Amino acid sequence: MAMDEGATAPPRPDPDDVIFVEPPNCVRCGSRFRVYPTVYDRWVSLSLAELPAKDVPPHFRWRLVNVASPYAPVVIDVFAVRVRGIEPLLGEPVIPTHQMLCAGERAKQQSAEKSPDSDSNG
Ligand SMILES: [Zn+2]
Repeated sequence: MAMDEGATAPPRPDPDDVIFVEPPNCVRCGSRFRVYPTVYDRWVSLSLAELPAKDVPPHFRWRLVNVASPYAPVVIDVFAVRVRGIEPLLGEPVIPTHQMLCAGERAKQQSAEKSPDSDSNG
């Protein structure tokens, strides 16, 4: 019987588990990104790396805000907030959305501009 072989499937991430889960990979371009909650109950996919503000269009600039416990110096939550209002310094690090960097997203936008009839592959 196969029962003696034991369970060989990898353990599934439990939603109640608080262990670190590997960042997801983008289905379009395959690169990794992080998903953070925003202050308005939406989620945003951010790049793993920061870039200087001069390299990121204002619309795509984000920053992480640590929420600390009022009773102890521990970070209990992290929110992503859009960088807006005061313009950051050119060299100030910001976190671009993955959307800005995603090659697949860019290709989709370019192909959307073309007519679907132009595809004569067959
Ligand atoms: Zn992508």
